[in-house]
Amino acid sequence: MKDKESMDLLEKTARNWLLERGVTIEDIADLVMFLQKKYHPDLEMKECIHNVERVLTKREVQNAILTGIQLDKLGEKKMLEEPLQAIIEVDEGLYGVDEILAFSIVNVYGSIGFTNYGYIDKLKPGILERLNDKSTGMCHTFLDDIVGAIAAAASSRLAHRAKHQD
Ligand SMILES: [Mg+2]
Repeated sequence: MKDKESMDLLEKTARNWLLERGVTIEDIADLVMFLQKKYHPDLEMKECIHNVERVLTKREVQNAILTGIQLDKLGEKKMLEEPLQAIIEVDEGLYGVDEILAFSIVNVYGSIGFTNYGYIDKLKPGILERLNDKSTGMCHTFLDDIVGAIAAAASSRLAHRAKHQD
C-alpha cells in the first residue's frame, strides 16, 4: 500500500513538473507522430498520446524527469555551486550528463529508441525547438533531452506493438 502511494506521488509530480515547465503530453505526442508517420501512414494522434502516457508510468522515466527538471530549476535560480552552475546555466556542449540521464528513458523500450533519440535531437522539431530557445531566460539543459527521450521511447513502444500486430 505504502509503495503504491509513493509510486503514484512520483508519477503525479513528474507529470505536474513537465506541465509547469511548459511541456504537454500533446507536445511529446507530436514528436512521436513526427518520428513514426513515415512508417505508419495511418497513425493517429490518440495512439501517439497513448504511448506517451504508457512511458510516463515507468518508474525510471519518472526518476529521470524529477532529477533533470530539479537541476534545471536550480540552475535557473542560480542555486547550484560553481563550476556546475555555469555549466548547466549555459548548457555547455561538452557536459553530456543531460544526455546520459535521458538514456535511462530511451533504454526502457530497447535499442531502437537510440536511433529515434539521435534523430530528433539533431532536427529539434516542435517543442524541442522551443526548449532550446535561450532567449526565454529559462534553463532547459536537462528537459530538452528528457522530452526527446520520452518521445523516442514512446516511438519504440509504438513500433514494437505495431510489429506484433502484423
Ligand atoms: Mg540538453
